[in-house]
Amino acid sequence: MEFNVFEHFKGIEKIPKDPTNNDQQGTSFFLTGHMGEQISSHLDDYAAKAGMSRRNFVKSACGFAAAMLAVNKITGTKFFDVEEAEAYDPAARKELSVARKAGTEFIVDQHTHICWRKDGYVPGVNTTEKGMWFVQLLDNLGKAMGLPNGIRDMTVENFGKLVLEKSDTSVAIFNPFGFREDYGGKDMVPIEEQVEVRNRWPDRTIMMGGGLTPNQGIGETLDRLQMFVEQYKISGLKLYTFDSTPKRGWWFDDEKLAYPIWEKCRKLGIKNIGCHKGIPFGQFMARYAHAEDFDAVADDFTDLNWIVFHSAWPYHNELAALKGFKPQRKNLYSELGSCFAATVTNRPLECAHLLGTLIRDLGADYVMWGTDSTLWASPQWQIEAFRRFQIPEELVKGYGYPPLTQEVKRKIFGENAARLWGIKVTAKTEPAAPPTVVAV
Ligand SMILES: [Zn+2]
Repeated sequence: MEFNVFEHFKGIEKIPKDPTNNDQQGTSFFLTGHMGEQISSHLDDYAAKAGMSRRNFVKSACGFAAAMLAVNKITGTKFFDVEEAEAYDPAARKELSVARKAGTEFIVDQHTHICWRKDGYVPGVNTTEKGMWFVQLLDNLGKAMGLPNGIRDMTVENFGKLVLEKSDTSVAIFNPFGFREDYGGKDMVPIEEQVEVRNRWPDRTIMMGGGLTPNQGIGETLDRLQMFVEQYKISGLKLYTFDSTPKRGWWFDDEKLAYPIWEKCRKLGIKNIGCHKGIPFGQFMARYAHAEDFDAVADDFTDLNWIVFHSAWPYHNELAALKGFKPQRKNLYSELGSCFAATVTNRPLECAHLLGTLIRDLGADYVMWGTDSTLWASPQWQIEAFRRFQIPEELVKGYGYPPLTQEVKRKIFGENAARLWGIKVTAKTEPAAPPTVVAV
């Protein structure tokens, strides 16, 4: 299957890149899509000004700054807070990068994955055709981001290298993949394999459980939940409401199928429950990607926190309405996995509307940072892009969006998730000191 979910990034797979070079990753992304060619010619100009070969320039921090600056110039809008000198003077770039980082060092990535499992995905043996669609999507995305073996490189080992070592992320929340109907009757990433991440980095990771499909039987679902909590000590749940049973999906507000799960979560002490919403990839029936079922559960279970992954993009306006018109609500959260990555480089105006809508309607205390790495290799280029991104003045005025201030960025980057998960905020100093995760 063709790599077509993020069609506007077509061409990125042709750009050779090193998955451990964060600047090159980010710059490569800017070079794709409808602005790619124009950005590329700006890069040539800045490379000449910096006295560097084009080849070396795209691997450098100046190259990444030049790409962001090019977007400002092409769109005539200051989406990125980047100074001209940063695009050709390495010393200026370094100095301003340090200045921009001040106060935003504590980063919790609400959305991270490993995608490979030990017995792999064999079509017709342990993986259905639909299951292969998703495997192929992840494989193509990984290869596009420079992982030479695609999904096979999205391992425990590389999680450590790309997310924990090569980025400013302090704590990563691990997200599971279930979909047992399509993967030979066991979770796509079985819990006994995903727990290796937490076992290796217990101070820097938090593990969510998943793979609950109530359409397979509520009794079995509740038993699995209990096993995840008692045997594997999961800290929360990340679920998917589409499935490959004949019913094809379910809703969080289904009193028969779903409410027994939430009641059991209460008993077991699980307070944070999330769901993939938006981005209706491959086998995902798009109707289940809408967040409308969070309306009733947020009211019926006010003692639980509800996290909408991907901020339901491109249906984020529907999500925003669940708080914008119900400001009394204090337990509805969103996170930015893949929706920020997919819009920031080539659809910056859409990115500004997305962030602006979420911050205005859900509130700055309820939007959380997430990158969906290792799907996008290291999260660092996204971190750098978010540090520099701003909501343009005309949108602040015209839509009433709150400006993306340092204070708001601090909340989104880490403070909100720290509050939700009971993580002690410890500023990352040089060299990086691992933060402490307090038991939740
Ligand atoms: Zn994800």
